Amino acid sequence: MRVWSVEDSLKTYCVENWGLQYFGINSKGNMTARPRLGQTPCIDMKEVVDDIISRGIKLPVLIRFQDILRHRVVSLNESFRRVIEEAGYKNRYMGVYPIKVNQLREVVEEIVDAGVPYQMGLEAGSKAELFAAIAMNTTPDSLILCNGYKDDSIIRMALLASKIGKRAIIIIEKLSEAYQVIRLSKELGVRPSLGIRSKLHTRGSGKWESSGGDSAKFGLTTPEVLQLINLLRNENMLDCAKLVHFHIGSQITDIRTIKDAVKEGARVYAKLKKMGVGLEFLDVGGGLGVDYDGSRTSSNSSVNYSVQEYVSGVVYTIQEVCAAEEVPEPAIVSESGRALVAHHSVLIVNVFGNIEMGSTPIQFEQTPEENELVTQLREVLANVTGKNLSESYHDALQHWEESSSLFKLGFLDLEDKAKVENLFWRVCFQINKLMVGQKYIPEDLVEMSKHLSEQYLCNFSLFQSAPDYWAIQQLFPIMPLHRLTEEPVRSATLVDITCDSDGKVDRFIDLRDVRETLPLHNINGQPYYIGMFLMGAYQDIMGDVHNLFGKVNEVHVFEDSEEPGGYYIEEIIPGNTVGEILGTIQYSSQELEKAVKIAIDNQVKSGALKPREGVDILNIFEKGLKEYTYIDQSIPVSMTGTGPSSQTTQQGV
Ligand SMILES: *Cc1c(COP(=O)(O)O)cnc(C)c1O
Repeated sequence: MRVWSVEDSLKTYCVENWGLQYFGINSKGNMTARPRLGQTPCIDMKEVVDDIISRGIKLPVLIRFQDILRHRVVSLNESFRRVIEEAGYKNRYMGVYPIKVNQLREVVEEIVDAGVPYQMGLEAGSKAELFAAIAMNTTPDSLILCNGYKDDSIIRMALLASKIGKRAIIIIEKLSEAYQVIRLSKELGVRPSLGIRSKLHTRGSGKWESSGGDSAKFGLTTPEVLQLINLLRNENMLDCAKLVHFHIGSQITDIRTIKDAVKEGARVYAKLKKMGVGLEFLDVGGGLGVDYDGSRTSSNSSVNYSVQEYVSGVVYTIQEVCAAEEVPEPAIVSESGRALVAHHSVLIVNVFGNIEMGSTPIQFEQTPEENELVTQLREVLANVTGKNLSESYHDALQHWEESSSLFKLGFLDLEDKAKVENLFWRVCFQINKLMVGQKYIPEDLVEMSKHLSEQYLCNFSLFQSAPDYWAIQQLFPIMPLHRLTEEPVRSATLVDITCDSDGKVDRFIDLRDVRETLPLHNINGQPYYIGMFLMGAYQDIMGDVHNLFGKVNEVHVFEDSEEPGGYYIEEIIPGNTVGEILGTIQYSSQELEKAVKIAIDNQVKSGALKPREGVDILNIFEKGLKEYTYIDQSIPVSMTGTGPSSQTTQQGV
């Protein structure tokens, strides 16, 4: 047998394609992170997880590599600096981070801090985000962009921000907002800075196509833009309009779409500039995508361009249009969120069990008096060959259906029913084995084979931690965190711990396709950890509390070459406890304890329970309210077999 190598694992899980060199595998077969690339230390992620566990922190846990955040900020800004220099573009880049993509304070703080040399600012799309942005953006002269629908209170705060030295630009998304802003700015005696969001004809590509185009929710149509300009001219405020903005959607998968949009947006800028509007900035919005599946294609979970190509596309396109229109080149603003934050966080889940279809915990002997159907199924099993797969499957299916009818009528005992079920699965597995390499496989056998895949039970809630997988079929790279010098001999789907049939992962990244199962290792009586990567954008922050699981534990890891493992853990943010999550929906722990105490007292009074036992039960209840909401079991067990390391498929009967 060939030895399984690190290279095999790298290839199997496409690590080098999606990891952007931030992630790799070391010679121990553990996943590594190199948050600042280059010659910096490689952090052994399995070691980090062991460290986390030894501190008493339970899985699932979200690891944030704060240095990756910083590195992303620097990379994007440096890319713009390089291309601007190379193109001889006569203005600068001033990025903003749209905080809706991940609003966690530590994430925003890190981005603002790393962005100081580049005057990176923040973008807000709601009242709460604006209030956070005004306070958090401490970099002098950086921008605060105020997007989204606005009421008086939002506009008032954005206007007042200029009085405390912040550079807030109110982006007019709807014509009516212009009247509002003019009224309030007069009231407050503040001269506003305005942006104009233009509704482009160019539509995005991929999932967010409808964010752009003529029917988009936000932005001004061309007549509305002209009306706004008339209004500002009449108010003597043409100089207040500083910025033209468009955003055609997130995760734009095709570079041509980006260039088209920039071309159109740059024309809008140029025409307005020529009309005497005081524009200084062209804001190209978000949309810079992330290659989640590593395929570098324009499929939904990928992008067919690099950051460098994106930046070149933006800078050169604006330059071209400005040259043709003979207008000065604007400062370029972009609102990239996903591309900055996706890579920095990894969800680590532990497998706590597996379910194998068709396995049996009891061995059945062949007995003389067993039902005819059992005998027939034995024959089917004995006679399956590569030449009669379909026929065997149909026979087996028919016997199984007949047995079900017989059972309902009372003509089949439980023992024979169990034998039928087990034999049926064995036939299916046998067919599945013989199907490999066959040229033509009938539709129903393909369907059948999907049902045979094993399930690994993972300690997490898809709805909390990876909502986009469920909501918009977004794929994420998922792979074991260790044992990567061992061949992954099982292929399985993942199921989460919510009581929801949608709480499963059965679509995985692949360079050419979407695969239905993930190669995984045998369960071996040791903990088994799986990492879900590139989770930093739009996931944890949008998660919901389906089944009351709530927030997961979080640790923030910093790289440090002075430390033994090359890292230190700066911060631990505990996930929700049972009591906390119940508290968010109006249950008070005290009231719950009181209710349980009443039940206990009644039992004690009636003599059904000893007072001591009653006290113990109450203590256990109280303690449980303070525990983590997730499953507390680190060693995986077979849910269908007989013990921790049983791999019982296809035996018995
Ligand atoms: C969501 C949003 C962004 C962020 O887009 P990404 O694709 O994550 O970079 C930028 N600008 C606006 C107006 C948005 O609504």
